[in-house]
Amino acid sequence: MLDKRSGSRLANLWDDAKAEGMSGPELLVYRSNTLGSDKRVTNYGGGNTSSKVWQKDPLTGEDVEVLWVKGSGGDSASIKLDGFATLYMDKLRALKGLYRGLAHEDEMVGYLPHCTFNLNPRAASIDTPLHAFVPKPCVDHMHPDAIIAIAAAKDSKAITKEIFGDAIGWLPWKRPGFELGLWLEKFCLENPDAKGVVLESHGLFTWGDTPKECYETTISVINQAIDWFERKSQGKAIFGGEVVKALDAPARRAIAAKLMPRIRGLISEKSHKLGHFDDQPAVLEFVNSKDLRPLAALGTSCPDHFLRTKIRPLVIEFDPAKPDVDAVIARLADDIAAYRVGYQAYYDSCKRADSPAIRDPNAVVYLMPGVGMFTFAGDKATARISGEFYVNAINVMRGASTVSSYVGLPAQEPSTSNTGSSRKPSSSACRSRRRWPARSPWSPAAPAASAAPLPTGCCTKAPVLSSPISMRPRSPAPTKSCRKPSEKTSFARCGST
Ligand SMILES: [Zn+2]
Repeated sequence: MLDKRSGSRLANLWDDAKAEGMSGPELLVYRSNTLGSDKRVTNYGGGNTSSKVWQKDPLTGEDVEVLWVKGSGGDSASIKLDGFATLYMDKLRALKGLYRGLAHEDEMVGYLPHCTFNLNPRAASIDTPLHAFVPKPCVDHMHPDAIIAIAAAKDSKAITKEIFGDAIGWLPWKRPGFELGLWLEKFCLENPDAKGVVLESHGLFTWGDTPKECYETTISVINQAIDWFERKSQGKAIFGGEVVKALDAPARRAIAAKLMPRIRGLISEKSHKLGHFDDQPAVLEFVNSKDLRPLAALGTSCPDHFLRTKIRPLVIEFDPAKPDVDAVIARLADDIAAYRVGYQAYYDSCKRADSPAIRDPNAVVYLMPGVGMFTFAGDKATARISGEFYVNAINVMRGASTVSSYVGLPAQEPSTSNTGSSRKPSSSACRSRRRWPARSPWSPAAPAASAAPLPTGCCTKAPVLSSPISMRPRSPAPTKSCRKPSEKTSFARCGST
């Protein structure tokens, strides 16, 4: 039984009295809602959960094993029964006989609807094989900040081993799909005592024989990671240390009020935008740091972040010790234009014949030393959520760069739009290094102090405080009024179904 510490650690919220009498699917909903209630466990819309339940087949009347797995869309915190896809386990296992190998992985997505149990209209996500092939009744796949900080570290395998020993394994980056499902199955069979796996550049898989065991393992593993980061970070400079001082709060807000309409005007040429300003301590710590520019240039650590924040922010050059906002405004148009040029170059570098048209080339996230972060989107809620996601990215960078070298997400080809549904995903993620123009807001002149050789990364989010990983509950999950970004993502999202 986990203890019920509060504060910096995740509390064990499992309530036996509540769970008593629930059916298997109801326990899955309860487990999912409980996990999703704390955004340190998984980001909004990220991750998924499953249970394998024996049910009566409506056709034969026989008991059959059914995989209940979070379907496309929705959020774990609020998901209900109708948010889960249901599939025959025997049919899912039979798909292995049809699998022709990695080069043909994408065609397996088309078979998933054929495995549907009880005519459930909820589409199965591309993560379905990951859950199906783990030979355990209950599986959690989460995107916890503390784990993604490990997954986004250059030596994530060694760190995983150091923290968890043999209890939690490690698998290298692999795009979610049929092949990764087979990898997970192989790992489980070869390591029957393991309780989970850290997926490089992605997140966490944990499992258990019962819903409660699975839930408690997930919480325990995340807490172990939080503990480890706290110990390892003691006495170390975060982000290379502070190089500029934040202005006081009224001054920060005055600058935001002056600058945001200017930015908005410059990026609303084709579609109107609304902005959100965030100067919480986690943001100020990052924008005032020595490593702001090299870390920002490395880009986000997670496809979820990519979708919400674009691959990287625009850093607004500003010296709070000699605040000259007029000078910032004077060069703002050029800075924004340069970002657009960089985004076009990025798009062109990964473009394929079947790629969708380039989306809005303007930055979503704007970071300003001494002041804070501006985020812009088509509506206020999306702008706020984009900011929350970038704070999640900051959390990951803090953890990974403090104990190791942070590794950003690889450049991804702007190919098919895939939000984790059973639609055909991009067949070949562009794993090459990002190619930025030599001099632009995309490619700051500052040396990449924390640059790592191989770009990888994954998904997360959440606010931060004193330690590398957020020890404070995040802001509440967005409500239904917070619609998803209208922009189409450009690659298969990892587990963000
Ligand atoms: Zn995932």
